[in-house]
Amino acid sequence: MERESLEMDVVFVGAGPANLSGALHLTRLVAEHNQGVANGGREGRALGEIQIAVIEKGATVGGHILSGAVPRGLAELIPNFVEEGAPLESPVKEDHFLYLTSKRAIRSPLTPPPLMNHGYYIVSLNRLTAWMGEKCEEVGVNIFPEFPGAEMLYDAADRVVGVRTGDKGIDKEGKRKPNFEPGVDLLAKVTVLGEGVRGSLTKKLVARLGLDEGREPQVYSLGVKELWELPDDRYPAGRVTHTLGFPSDQWTYGGGWIYGMQNRIVNLGYVTGLDYRDPLIDPHAEFQRFKSHPFLTKLLDGGKMIRYGAKAIAAGGLHAMPRLYADGVLIVGDSAGFLNAARLKGIHSAIKSGMLAAETIFEALVAGDFSAGKLQTFESRVKESWITPELRRYRNFHAAFRHGRWLGMANAGLQYITGGRAWGIFDRARQEAGHEAMGKLSAYGYQGDDVAQRYGNFKFDGKTTFNKVTDVYHAAVAHDEDQPAHLHVLDTNICATRCAEEYGNPCQRFCPAAVYEMADNGNGQRHLQINFSNCVHCKTCDIMDPYQIINWVTPEGGGGPDYKGM
Ligand code: SF4
Repeated sequence: MERESLEMDVVFVGAGPANLSGALHLTRLVAEHNQGVANGGREGRALGEIQIAVIEKGATVGGHILSGAVPRGLAELIPNFVEEGAPLESPVKEDHFLYLTSKRAIRSPLTPPPLMNHGYYIVSLNRLTAWMGEKCEEVGVNIFPEFPGAEMLYDAADRVVGVRTGDKGIDKEGKRKPNFEPGVDLLAKVTVLGEGVRGSLTKKLVARLGLDEGREPQVYSLGVKELWELPDDRYPAGRVTHTLGFPSDQWTYGGGWIYGMQNRIVNLGYVTGLDYRDPLIDPHAEFQRFKSHPFLTKLLDGGKMIRYGAKAIAAGGLHAMPRLYADGVLIVGDSAGFLNAARLKGIHSAIKSGMLAAETIFEALVAGDFSAGKLQTFESRVKESWITPELRRYRNFHAAFRHGRWLGMANAGLQYITGGRAWGIFDRARQEAGHEAMGKLSAYGYQGDDVAQRYGNFKFDGKTTFNKVTDVYHAAVAHDEDQPAHLHVLDTNICATRCAEEYGNPCQRFCPAAVYEMADNGNGQRHLQINFSNCVHCKTCDIMDPYQIINWVTPEGGGGPDYKGM
């Protein structure tokens, strides 16, 4: 197939906060350099016009991004971000921390230090990212929405030389439609992977080049959230509440949040560790149960749910991060796992990682050297920045909770006192990949996959709690149905046999968007049906499938959720 090739200098894959920061910072560094050389203030040669592209699988910048966030790193990138009109909701005015029993909400007199956000701004990351995209375009960065990164391009020596974008106009049988457009080969001196959590290109790159050798397995959580419009000012803008306890059992990592935004909107959600053991756990149901707590039903009474979304979070910390560079490529932001799991925050470090990547690339452009040997200074920069001390302090945080909630809290406390040492002693705690942690039905004495065995008679009431289909409607998801499914299940025979028997097809539960369904085929047998058009691109199935036979790949550009205010 004939494909167009475009020569760029730098291609950023994914228009998230890390890559947009990188593109903006790099543009400035190059402009300052060129100006310095022109006026004699700087030695060396001018770099001329550098072609920078940011490609994005969503229809708009920010459309696939969600997080009620408190980003601290923004001032380093855009010092006067308030005056420049960043879309801020409110400064954090109150930090609350609650322990929930099944009926009561006990307010802790002290907020755990990692969860203190006083003075920082609450933002909707999806709005902030759209604004950062505008800032990039103002300085000449080329942003291409609806261009998913489909494949890495390598030369004969396995050096990354760019990225191929996805084809458009392929029907569900894999045949070309009249509107067929082949993807483009974007050739670049440096490709920066900032695709978000469990990036599909990052996953392949890491495996191909062994970039995770000697690291702990990455572990993840799934955040499921809704925006609610309240009838009055009962939850003020600027109030941040984090919760622990109900509805998670003590062996399941989990916690909730409630952020007060402008115009009586609250942003609330629940995180469930994707290393849960009980195969009947459903993270979406955990979130709905969270809202059924009396504290939440009172808060939401008379309100209206207006938006829904879900996204995985990389929680493994410093020891689970892959090598961040190879020939011609860098990995930034959530794709690399820069999130601080104890704070549940990663935007600040994503922004900083993008800026440090930009400084590394700038130096490489000046030297004309894009080898791994040159790009490895990215890791040195990360080590010397404030990112590493922060991540070091919480490097074993998630692993602490492998031993249950109470021991986990004790372990986390000892870690806090000793600068991150597990149990106050060990530098590095072992982690277990989430899909390996899941137990079998038999280990729980379950008969089949009836979730009533775990959730009893809990029902969605349609007022405060909703089923997945209703929620997905509020994520405004759209995919052209006449395209190949972007969820590749390598062996569907396992679904009806081993998986049904051993785990009760957990994809039906861990997917927060009702994509996977074991449907009756009319003769008493069940087969896997994939409703891929519901997919909100959270990546949970790729992470949590116990046999690791689900591969999430990018669908046709523009498909996916359309998050607004999330
Ligand atoms: Fe998330 Fe996979 Fe479900 Fe899509 S199909 S919403 S990526 S779990």
